[in-house]
Amino acid sequence: MEATKLEFESIYFDLYELSSGIFAAISAEKMPTSNAGFFDLGNYLVVFDALMDPYSTVDLIKASKQFTNKEPSFLINSHHHMDHLFGNRKFPMNVPIISSSEALIEAQQTLGTRVKDFKERAPEEIKRTEELLLNEKDPNKILELKNDVNTWNEIKEPSFSLRLPDFIINDSFTIKGTKNQVQIIYIGAAHSKGDIIAYFEKEKICFMGDLLFEETDPSWATAAEGVPHPPDPEHLRDILIEYAEKDIAIYVPGHGNLCTEKELRENAEFYDEYYIKK
Ligand SMILES: [Zn+2]
Repeated sequence: MEATKLEFESIYFDLYELSSGIFAAISAEKMPTSNAGFFDLGNYLVVFDALMDPYSTVDLIKASKQFTNKEPSFLINSHHHMDHLFGNRKFPMNVPIISSSEALIEAQQTLGTRVKDFKERAPEEIKRTEELLLNEKDPNKILELKNDVNTWNEIKEPSFSLRLPDFIINDSFTIKGTKNQVQIIYIGAAHSKGDIIAYFEKEKICFMGDLLFEETDPSWATAAEGVPHPPDPEHLRDILIEYAEKDIAIYVPGHGNLCTEKELRENAEFYDEYYIKK
């Protein structure tokens, strides 16, 4: 099975069709921007993760409509981190947003402070971005910076708020479409307190969310900021090994390029070495 890169114009991601109706949006700049996907199940269009930058979310929704001729039916948040759900509010309110109950609780408890911090930072970010714009010549960078100014202006508005998940699960389930079916698998605490992944058994494809990174960095284990410490590194390692042993050809990581079993084993070793064995 070969992933096919599709013709789609976005400064934020490259679009791949992994198998008929199964698409991955892979961040154009790798870290720290996240990946997403969308699945044409025949009668349903399922979107997996909403990305961080709202303009990338708009591109993702546009791509999902363009390549499936459908409107999104469901959105899944693999976990509660901002880079996977900040774009939620770009989806129409009649599209349910699925997450684990822990992801909703974590989002409610932690993201309010983050949004408050964003609002406080907005005026200086606008000023800083506008200064960068003055000297920028690259048209893609200009577009990105202009979008950033608009986003900061939106965040500054008193009415701005995140849209949190509203279709809450505590277990795995399968969405059986008329064409494809996908298993939405509840992992529980691993990378975050409530992770979920999307598994296409027949097509041998798994969307791993942030359970998988193309590349890892030992400095994460000691850094005060950046990639948060996994709440259950043992479970995370065990899941990585469990899924590495399955007959899966393409793993879509939360960050970085498409992966194979090799990266799952490397990630498992990474957690063993830097988070478990200590
Ligand atoms: Zn992430």
